[in-house]
Amino acid sequence: MARTPIAEWPDPDTLLVVEDDDVLRETLALTLGTMCRQVRTASSLAEAVRECAHVSPELVLLDLGLPDGDGSQLLQQLRVVTDVPIIVLSGRDDEDAKVAMLDAGADDFISKPCGAAELQARVRGQLRRAAMSHASRAWSLITVDGVEIDLQQQRVVRHGTLQRLTPTEWSLLRTLVLHVGRPLSPRQLWDLVWAREFGDYATHVRVHITHLRRKIEPDASMPRLIVTEPGVGYRFNVPL
Ligand code: CA
Repeated sequence: MARTPIAEWPDPDTLLVVEDDDVLRETLALTLGTMCRQVRTASSLAEAVRECAHVSPELVLLDLGLPDGDGSQLLQQLRVVTDVPIIVLSGRDDEDAKVAMLDAGADDFISKPCGAAELQARVRGQLRRAAMSHASRAWSLITVDGVEIDLQQQRVVRHGTLQRLTPTEWSLLRTLVLHVGRPLSPRQLWDLVWAREFGDYATHVRVHITHLRRKIEPDASMPRLIVTEPGVGYRFNVPL
């Protein structure tokens, strides 16, 4: 009689490596590359947010010391919208730092340097735990007055009608959601979503926000999800 495997789950689709050291980042990407369909990489906080806005990684390997800030900032941002496993990778080996990271929502903590076999085992362990604890949904579902926004399935239903968002609109929405509660200026949005140097960013961002509001706001004339902060920019609100 054929034996049924005790547990079997598909290889993850996308893993994200956030590390500013070029050599280490490449090594980590190669090590994890055998375990998933694709490894995305980022070398700064801004790049990491951009990656998260474009893809839904199933696990994030996160360095703490990054050129534009501390990785713990991203950890807090991500924990608002997702419970995908986050493994913190750090040169700091002290107990206090580990406890602080675990308190902030990290699932595991690996001290550098770390061997390939150990890294793969830790990643596999986190993916297995995540697969068992929630079968499919790791990215948030936002519901408000007749609107349902599924960030994982990339699906928006507004008053019973499926809305079609462009890839740019998805990136813009996810970027706003990743910074929930905090205003982003048009310039910041431009850098995070479009990553271009030139262009009339103020107009560009405003037009896209208008389009996005028509698709995701219960009432586009009275925005409640993407609110305008006068003189600052736009802030995503999680409705209570
Ligand atoms: Ca670093």
